[in-house]
Amino acid sequence: MTSLPFRPFAPWLRETFGRPVHRIALDAGSTCPNRDGSKGFGGCVYCDVEGSGSGALREGQDLAEQLEAGMRRIARRQRPGDPPLGAIAYFQSYTNTYVSTQRLIETLDVVRPYLERGIVAVSIATRPDCLPAEALDALEALGRHVPIWVELGLEVADDQRLIDIGRMHTVQEFDDAVERVHERGFLCVGHAILGLPEDGREGARATAHALAAAGCSGVKVHNLMVLKRTQLAARWKRGEVEVIDAPTYVDWLADFVERLHPDQVLHRMTGDAPSENRLAPHWNVHKSEVRELLAAELQRRGTRQGSRFEGSRTPPPTRTLPSTSTRP
Ligand code: SF4
Repeated sequence: MTSLPFRPFAPWLRETFGRPVHRIALDAGSTCPNRDGSKGFGGCVYCDVEGSGSGALREGQDLAEQLEAGMRRIARRQRPGDPPLGAIAYFQSYTNTYVSTQRLIETLDVVRPYLERGIVAVSIATRPDCLPAEALDALEALGRHVPIWVELGLEVADDQRLIDIGRMHTVQEFDDAVERVHERGFLCVGHAILGLPEDGREGARATAHALAAAGCSGVKVHNLMVLKRTQLAARWKRGEVEVIDAPTYVDWLADFVERLHPDQVLHRMTGDAPSENRLAPHWNVHKSEVRELLAAELQRRGTRQGSRFEGSRTPPPTRTLPSTSTRP
């Protein structure tokens, strides 16, 4: 149990898997319908050319090599006497289910030999409108051996804002995708960005309500960042976009967290774009301090995560065992 007024990721992870677990970020060489013209060109306004990922594949490191390197990094963190460390294979870059079913199966097959070497979950990031039944079938086949997490970008719970930022999907498509992920017995993590243009404090609150209503077990949230090589960068340089400062983010984050379900796990509450790729903001606040500032703000208000939760829906229980589909 934590005494923090919100539900952070690390203790939940340790409690869930019974040992320290680290992520291995993977680039499977996917692309995105928002870049190749199927949905749009140029991507979401805040997304850089690496598709929010590492670009490892483009740099010549194939998937197995990325996994090997990740396993070696984790092994170096192992302390004598500690339980063996676990790893999450995290397909981070681009839209990982926006490939042929055969390609997805081949990609997931690369992970299989590592299941016996400490991979405790496979997490796959994608768009809500790129989750056909065939992709879910492929994930379900792997899910018989390891828990599957599906990370879905909502970002903002307003269809007009979603058009403005070039997401090119709707809130309804997000809700439908979460349903289909849950039907397969996978864990769902919904993503949100606070401080998007024209969204404001009310937008942050509305997005939290939407993620709570959708019933995602996990939530990732961060402040809007202006990265180099994005559409937003040009707008920011012309003075058309402002980013929020750290005290404002903490204030809005507290609003956001109050409106989540008390059981939803905060997988992330800050962005982690490297400073050299980021035009703004450059806060004088380390991301670990954001967590402390959030706790202090909630304590000052006398509230906690879920204090303003308005729904009746509870996130499905987290499975540490491989998934069992609830479909007929
Ligand atoms: S954020 Fe995701 S959906 Fe948007 S352009 Fe980047 S990879 Fe595509």
